[in-house]
Amino acid sequence: MPATQLLIGPDWVGASTGATGETINPATGEALGVFAEASAADVDAAVAAARAGFESAAWRSLTADARGKILWRIAELIERNAEELAALETADQGQPIFVSTNVSIPLAAQTFRYYAGWATKLEGKVSPVSIPGQFTYQQRRPLGVAALITPWNFPLDIAAWKLAPALATGNATILKPAEQTPLSTVRLVELALEAGVPTGVVNLLTGGPEVGRALVAHPGVDKVSFTGSTAVGQEIVRTAADTLKRVGLELGGKAPSIVARDADIDAAVAGNLQGALFNTGQACGAFTRFFVHRSRVDEFATKIAIAADSLTIGPGSDPNTVVGPLVSAEHLARVDGYVAGGKSEGAQLVTGGERVGGPLENGFFYRPTVFTEVKDEMTIAREEIFGPVLSIMPYDDLDEAIARANNTDYGLAAVVWTQDLKTAHRLPERIHAGTVFVNQLPLIDPGTPWGGFGKSGWGREMGAYSLDEYTESQSVFMNLD
Ligand code: NAD
Repeated sequence: MPATQLLIGPDWVGASTGATGETINPATGEALGVFAEASAADVDAAVAAARAGFESAAWRSLTADARGKILWRIAELIERNAEELAALETADQGQPIFVSTNVSIPLAAQTFRYYAGWATKLEGKVSPVSIPGQFTYQQRRPLGVAALITPWNFPLDIAAWKLAPALATGNATILKPAEQTPLSTVRLVELALEAGVPTGVVNLLTGGPEVGRALVAHPGVDKVSFTGSTAVGQEIVRTAADTLKRVGLELGGKAPSIVARDADIDAAVAGNLQGALFNTGQACGAFTRFFVHRSRVDEFATKIAIAADSLTIGPGSDPNTVVGPLVSAEHLARVDGYVAGGKSEGAQLVTGGERVGGPLENGFFYRPTVFTEVKDEMTIAREEIFGPVLSIMPYDDLDEAIARANNTDYGLAAVVWTQDLKTAHRLPERIHAGTVFVNQLPLIDPGTPWGGFGKSGWGREMGAYSLDEYTESQSVFMNLD
């Protein structure tokens, strides 16, 4: 079985304790590989290596053009190794091969290319201060050592969304992938070295929550960029208060989908189904709460249930698979627990609601599940399930739908389905979410910021916003008298 190591400075090493963890193929339940489980001493060593990398002449004296070139090369290497990376992501995470091939891998490459372009455009400005004899300017300074802690749902992309802007702005980094899905991140780090990233500028620690905790608490870490659950995000903020390190948080979501009375129902069914079941619902922007005008609710529920039943469930490696497995046995049990809660709280199960048996019984497969008669206060309508579970809730007028859609702690994404131009333009500004889609399944592009309101997080990733996340503004007063 393949075994992966930590990257500390120039060295690929096992954990100082010799500890390892196992990553499982969610389609089969079988072990896929072994990774080094970093210890507290390894965290100290990685932070020291990253500090040395940040201070090194090899990184500091690189021109902006040379930094951009390295990022561009990472993009090219991702593309050159696309087939291998897609197979790795599918085996480790479970995502259908059409998703890893057509979304995850190209988006990672595109992200590095996008930030390669920014490396040469980190401009400062001159301020006309009213103090005689002064020339005053501001410039962006890198933060120093950035710990990049990622979840298991889109491991390669989320690592890219952090690593690319952190490097473009001149930081040194420590990547900490999720313990369920470390493999594509290990490969990304190898490719970053191959592209010419200097020693110490990219480090890798694999392992579980303790590794993340140690990085967040560490006084040598200047920035934590975290994507994951809201509960862990809250813990990170409490811990980071001691050192006042910078924190960026991309947390959970519970995206509403508002289907207006005038919506094209067939388009809404197709788009909502993809938006809800993309990566088996394991997407932070997944559509989950379907507010459908009462006059259209029966048609919508019937059509979406039939469509959900028709999707091919199978291992991600099968090109025909649309719905792959959930990431782990633990997560499967969690999703099933939410479905049981939905039934016991009185929601009506239209289809699904059980794991898949037969030849798939050893994997972590769950049937796409549609509930109707879901009330706003039910647990399935309030908490993030992160699985293939759709809740349909009728409404009578749009103001009511908007108020109910906004009645959530989260605010990551939302979608509106309407054929009315005024509704399409007026609704987004009334919706409490970082991104609003109109007649559209969830999309992500490196040029557009992504992040949430409320308990969906702090800050934004992608676009020029990410440059602010990895830099401080420094003012210089120059005495000209
Ligand atoms: P998680 O919070 O359990 O873990 C995420 C990462 O944090 C892992 O690497 C984990 O090892 C580490 N970690 C766990 N406890 C930690 C602690 N106390 N301190 C520091 N690090 C710790 O999340 P998950 O289950 O891997 O991912 C699913 C969650 O991620 C969902 O809530 C989902 O909405 C969210 N997510 C959000 C976005 C977004 O852009 N907003 C994108 C993807 C996923």
